[in-house]
Amino acid sequence: MYTPQDPTTQYPRPPFPPQQQEAPGDVREMDPAPDHGETSYIGNGRLAGRRALVTGADSGIGRAVAIAYAREGADVALSYLPEEQAQAEDVAALIGEAGQTALLLPGDLQDEAQNERVIAETVSAFGGIDILAIIAGVMPTVDSIDDFETEQLDRVLKTNIYPLFWLTKAASPHLKPGASIVTCSSIQGYVPSPSLAEYAVSKAGIANWTRAMAQQLAERGIRVNGVAPGPIWTPLQPSSVPNEKIESFGEDTPLGRAGQPVELAPPFVFLASQESSYVSGETVAVTGGTPTH
Ligand code: NAD
Ligand code: MG
Repeated sequence: MYTPQDPTTQYPRPPFPPQQQEAPGDVREMDPAPDHGETSYIGNGRLAGRRALVTGADSGIGRAVAIAYAREGADVALSYLPEEQAQAEDVAALIGEAGQTALLLPGDLQDEAQNERVIAETVSAFGGIDILAIIAGVMPTVDSIDDFETEQLDRVLKTNIYPLFWLTKAASPHLKPGASIVTCSSIQGYVPSPSLAEYAVSKAGIANWTRAMAQQLAERGIRVNGVAPGPIWTPLQPSSVPNEKIESFGEDTPLGRAGQPVELAPPFVFLASQESSYVSGETVAVTGGTPTH
């Protein structure tokens, strides 16, 4: 990951083979296999001794972040849906191989009590919590306002927005100066696609929450930042968008390809570590060159 090379050809370029999955999807069914850093992420002790919770940790960006945090020396609690148990166990095994402790926390984060539970179990297993990486999310495609459904918007907000408040409130009494919260927005929060209105409004909300909470928590020495990915090769895509978008996925970025989950790990590590001591309220774009402003 430190060898200089051409980023336009570093990872697979479209066209991708057609493929569709049932949500929440499975990384083992993706072709080509995504890179979550399993063999590519090199750690450096940048998070030595930290205790992290990562949501959406079984697959995609959350999986890459969980692997990277462990390789950087953190113990990592993994939040994911019960049907993703096998993928989460693969991540836990990699965390163990890195010499760190993994904690498996299956459950639906649309339920406030589950958010309280994952924080309580993390604190009880690790003796505290220093890093919250809130990455879980859903992305329904709704082509027309005539197909708008209240239940769909409720599900998007309950999954993508409410846990920001619920997890942070539950963790608040345990967060010490030096703690860090990292959220996951999207290029969709800045430049929305027509079929992703419900999702895009939630992602704009995440970046805005990040700015608000950074100001609230600054006096306690707690920083809050976010990452805004562009098109990333994860199960979210084949389980949310039709095949014609999968085949050309990432083509319209300046770098001409989709990003891989491991390419999100360094900004999530930077924002969690003391290296970013004077950065708060910021959302870092990782979009293959597509401008967010
Ligand atoms: P992913 O499907 O691998 O990860 C999403 C995870 O969210 C799932 O693995 C699941 O564990 C979790 N999740 C979904 N509903 C949940 C619920 N009700 N309770 C608990 N957990 C739940 O896909 P990904 O692309 O890695 O997504 C991670 C984040 O990245 C999401 O917030 C997504 O919006 C964001 N993002 C992705 C892209 C992309 O192109 N893939 C681009 C921008 C932003
Ligand atoms: Mg998953």
